[in-house]
Amino acid sequence: MKYFSKSKGVVKLNFPMSKLTWFQTGGKAQVLFIPENRLDLHLFLKSFKEKKLINIIGGCSNLLVRDGGVKGVIVKLGSGFDFINFENDHIICGASVKNINLSNKMAKKSIRGFEFLSTIPGTIGGSIFMNSGCFGSEIKNLIKSVIVMNKNGDLKELEKEQINFKYRSSGINKNYFIIAAKLKKNKGSKIAIKKKIKKYVNLRKKTQPNKVLTGGSTFTNPEKKKAWKLIKDSGCENMIVGGAKISDKHCNFLVNTGHANSKDLENLGNKIRSKVFKETGEKLNWEIKRIGIR
Ligand SMILES: Cc1cc2nc3c(=O)[nH]c(=O)nc-3n(C[C@H](O)[C@H](O)[C@H](O)COP(=O)(O)OP(=O)(O)OC[C@H]3O[C@@H](n4cnc5c(N)ncnc54)[C@H](O)[C@@H]3O)c2cc1C
Repeated sequence: MKYFSKSKGVVKLNFPMSKLTWFQTGGKAQVLFIPENRLDLHLFLKSFKEKKLINIIGGCSNLLVRDGGVKGVIVKLGSGFDFINFENDHIICGASVKNINLSNKMAKKSIRGFEFLSTIPGTIGGSIFMNSGCFGSEIKNLIKSVIVMNKNGDLKELEKEQINFKYRSSGINKNYFIIAAKLKKNKGSKIAIKKKIKKYVNLRKKTQPNKVLTGGSTFTNPEKKKAWKLIKDSGCENMIVGGAKISDKHCNFLVNTGHANSKDLENLGNKIRSKVFKETGEKLNWEIKRIGIR
């Protein structure tokens, strides 16, 4: 606890991660640390020497925490990282801002390009790390630079050109915590922006599960192929492991039916991978990040 003695943030011991994950599964974090601001995070990172035992989370919407829990410290950025500032030619957005809040704020200010984010759960930090996207847009298109803090507590600004954005990956080093981003500020028509958001929200409701316990797309799409189609064509649709099943609406979404644990979900994912490989020769890669002890 000495690491947090100067901290204004919140420190919780043996925190049940199922309270935070979208799957509502997962064991306990030995320590959950919610730094209130940059200084808090800096002081902790400077003093805590076991760097491998530090993990960061956002909204936990693309995360499976294993049932054995997570050793060490899980960092979840607090209120001091939840800000949107408008500068002359760009926007500075804190990493704990929710995607939907950013999208709504941009719509209000008639700034275009952020519409798709209103349908992706999670935070800007998590979305940049994952290079999240949908409806033909990806967050990388909005980025000017990303401000990170390394595990020694030092700040650094990464220009977009220094970041190796790819499909569902930023390539940002795991030793960097994203704390804010400079984003593009392109003016548009408020009516058109709001119309687009509405269209995306409706499309999403039609094609993907909502109001269920899920972690979004389980696997990334292999090049020129769709993971959901490979899963369907391999006859996995009705697979069940314990309380985990495949969504009726979208084959690439796993669902906790109410009594699944993380082991059920991970085993179901691995069962799907094996079957798809056997049937099609295609190797599916996990998009969902998995952390913790089995
Ligand atoms: C119903 C549903 C629909 C979804 N639809 C889409 C979609 O259309 N497109 C899409 O791309 N994704 C989708 N997702 C997945 C998910 O919402 C996105 O990947 C989201 O951007 C993850 O953000 P998060 O804050 O929840 O990150 P988390 O799930 O908390 O973390 C994901 C990864 O990011 C890392 N991370 C989080 N914050 C930071 C930070 N500040 N600095 C460094 N690393 C960090 C974590 O360590 C972890 O490795 C969906 C998920 C759900 C549940």
